[in-house]
Amino acid sequence: MMAHTHMAFGLLFGLLSLSFVHPANKYIFISIAIFSSLLPDLDHPQSKLGRKFCFSRIFNVFFGHRGFFHAVWIPIAIWLVLSLGFGISYGSAVFIGYFAHLFSDGLTKSGVNLVHPLHQLRMQGFIETGGVVEHLVFFTLVILSIILVL
Ligand SMILES: [Zn+2]
Repeated sequence: MMAHTHMAFGLLFGLLSLSFVHPANKYIFISIAIFSSLLPDLDHPQSKLGRKFCFSRIFNVFFGHRGFFHAVWIPIAIWLVLSLGFGISYGSAVFIGYFAHLFSDGLTKSGVNLVHPLHQLRMQGFIETGGVVEHLVFFTLVILSIILVL
């Protein structure tokens, strides 16, 4: 999926999670969720975030694209560390944004292995990255998010 679609998933998942998580500041929570929806693609030097950080190339060499960074281990670790250090809501915001990315990549033809490299728990869909269906999904997410905010 493209960066803006990941961010739209991060926004929607963040808004939906406000029913369960009650952060002190909803705007910071949603902003963290949206930003975190870009984190997994740090393993791709040409991604929106990867272009800004040179260590993205190193991650790509060692882990490959849609490998370890696209499994559940990193968001669980981040959630644990941030929840212990800063409280559960902001750790949850990172987890939700990161998970939104994994979920949305799981809808694409390339898919993701959520438990890489331990085992196969493949999530794979039919959406072509950058294709017409992804654009439709993006607009649907934006409309759903607007409805949730109203
Ligand atoms: Zn990705």
